[in-house]
Amino acid sequence: MPKTQTYDIVLLPGDGVGPEVIAAAKDVLRVIADFYGHSFDFSEHLIGGAGIDATGDPLPPETTAACLAADGVLLGAVGGPKWDGGARRPEEGLLGIRKAMGLFANLRPLQVSPVLAHRSPLKKEIVEGVDLIVFRELTGGVYFGEKVRTDTMASDLCIYTVPEIERITRAAFKTALQRRGKVTSVDKANVMATSKLWREVVTRIHAEEFPQVQLEHALVDSMAMHLIRKPRDYDVILTENMFGDILSDEISVLGGSIGLLPSASLGESGPGLFEPIHGSAPDIAGQDLANPVGTILSAAMMLRHSLGLEDEASSIEAAVAAVLAAGATTADLGGALGTRAAGEAIIDAIRAIH
Ligand code: ATP
Ligand code: MG
Repeated sequence: MPKTQTYDIVLLPGDGVGPEVIAAAKDVLRVIADFYGHSFDFSEHLIGGAGIDATGDPLPPETTAACLAADGVLLGAVGGPKWDGGARRPEEGLLGIRKAMGLFANLRPLQVSPVLAHRSPLKKEIVEGVDLIVFRELTGGVYFGEKVRTDTMASDLCIYTVPEIERITRAAFKTALQRRGKVTSVDKANVMATSKLWREVVTRIHAEEFPQVQLEHALVDSMAMHLIRKPRDYDVILTENMFGDILSDEISVLGGSIGLLPSASLGESGPGLFEPIHGSAPDIAGQDLANPVGTILSAAMMLRHSLGLEDEASSIEAAVAAVLAAGATTADLGGALGTRAAGEAIIDAIRAIH
């Protein structure tokens, strides 16, 4: 008998397609728990517009408390036109929970399977086999520095501290050790003081703690170009807040559908927050049309990064790859499956693997 371990998983379905894609991911997690002999205790909590409608608050205090006490948190999406112009905005819920959980690293993997490479805006032979992950720093940089505006000038202060750079650097190198062993650190060290510090700290952590990883530095401008010309060259991409924001969006279009892509946001300790990169997609909400793959892959990242269940995560990823390879997809990828059927196809593939 495998040892049964219990994990508390908080689900935040949120708005729009959120509840549909979370339901699909929950079914997948249940099947995984059965196969590996774990017990996942799910609880659902309000966030975003759903929180506003029920309580007037996009982040009710009990949601925050549940997330802080959980082993992992899986979010659908927040927002939508329904709450435009209201006193509270759904997005406040997302910003609030990120802050309360102390999340400092945003991870966005991209894999382009050969069968879907033709859906990319780039040539098939450039993108097929791409397998990279971006580590974006979330707490520092120009987003949080002092902002000044007068009639004739404006400035945005960009600040980074050594500990802020060290912790995300360690997270990126650790992940590289489990992948192909290469980190590309992106900065603008020819112009910015924060980037010069970034490069120094990354270089030192590499030499002292991760000499077995291959490290290269790239300037953000040339990186934007190389990501289009030779995206297959990259494994782990490590960068600060604003460069990561921009490069993540650039990378998100290489794969063909926004509905496929997962993300993770991690803190120092405690659970991470996992969510698909797409938004609430109000245009297709409630119609069983949304692609659940981004959320299901986010659930796999949760198993890997917050629960430490690597085999379980890999098994979900293998099932997703098999289903996509077989062409069993939702309409965004040209297929005929609805959200529920796409989730069930992945569950069937998990059963076939085991
Ligand atoms: P938000 O402001 O909430 O981020 P957005 O307008 O930026 O919303 P999305 O909600 O992600 O972006 O939607 C962008 C487009 O992608 C829409 O046409 C939507 O239908 C589509 N889309 C988003 N998510 C999915 C999904 N899971 N499956 C299929 N199509 C999707
Ligand atoms: Mg958006």
